[in-house]
Amino acid sequence: MGSISLRQVEKTYGAGARTFKAIHGVDAEIADGEFIVIVGPSGCGKSTLLRMVAGLEEISGGEIDIGGRVVNRLEPAERDIAMVFQNYALYPHMTVFDNMAYGLKIAKVPKDEIQRRVEKAAGILELGTLLQRRPRELSGGQRQRVAMGRAIVRQPAVFLFDEPLSNLDAKLRAQTRLEIQKLHRELGVTSLFVTHDQVEAMTLGQRLIVMNGGRIEQIGTPEDVYGRP
Ligand code: ADP
Ligand code: ADP
Repeated sequence: MGSISLRQVEKTYGAGARTFKAIHGVDAEIADGEFIVIVGPSGCGKSTLLRMVAGLEEISGGEIDIGGRVVNRLEPAERDIAMVFQNYALYPHMTVFDNMAYGLKIAKVPKDEIQRRVEKAAGILELGTLLQRRPRELSGGQRQRVAMGRAIVRQPAVFLFDEPLSNLDAKLRAQTRLEIQKLHRELGVTSLFVTHDQVEAMTLGQRLIVMNGGRIEQIGTPEDVYGRP
């Protein structure tokens, strides 16, 4: 359901004489339910690759397949994915409940279904008692969980994480990492997580995609990539 195939995926930025090839024909097969971390130095193309899977960046060549369906030409909303960003801008004037419900309201999901999904996500994320608060009345960690809640309620086949921890302090980063692990244990949703942080890659990834200079250098378990601790 949430399997992903990348087949000779390319990205060229710019046009005419001023072009830059950010991704050079990458291939990868990701199984349904896997937690994959895309790791590599700044500028190697991690974010570009993730954004192409999300449909936020046009693909210049090759094919991206999600759940057995080529998604190259589909809008983000049609791709059965949800993205968790680094800057998880919540709507400041809306309650936690409404922040989580907003996307579903736009998608015209029936009200009782919205209610059910938000309450379920709030249970998993321990936000059940905070649904009537506004973002300014929450801690940083609680806000981050609301941002994840917005992704969960959409019940996508794939979660995409674009360095969601990089703006957090060390304590909160560790806490949110555990939260994401718990989420994956409970929901088993295929996840692609981008980071430049080796600790995050080792602790979160079942397999790692190691990128460098717009190419995939290696795909393997944390032990394959970093050796045994
Ligand atoms: P990473 O996420 O690994 O830091 P990016 O995917 O953001 O890398 O960027 C990969 C390369 O593509 C970099 O050299 C970057 O400068 C370039 N790049 C990213 N976005 C654009 C853009 N909109 N226009 C031109 N070049 C870009
Ligand atoms: P609307 O008519 O604006 O769609 P509702 O009648 O569904 O809103 O709910 C009114 C407000 O009560 C919502 O804005 C939301 O903040 C809150 N709310 C609704 N359901 C719940 C719930 N199960 N738990 C907590 N708050 C809820």
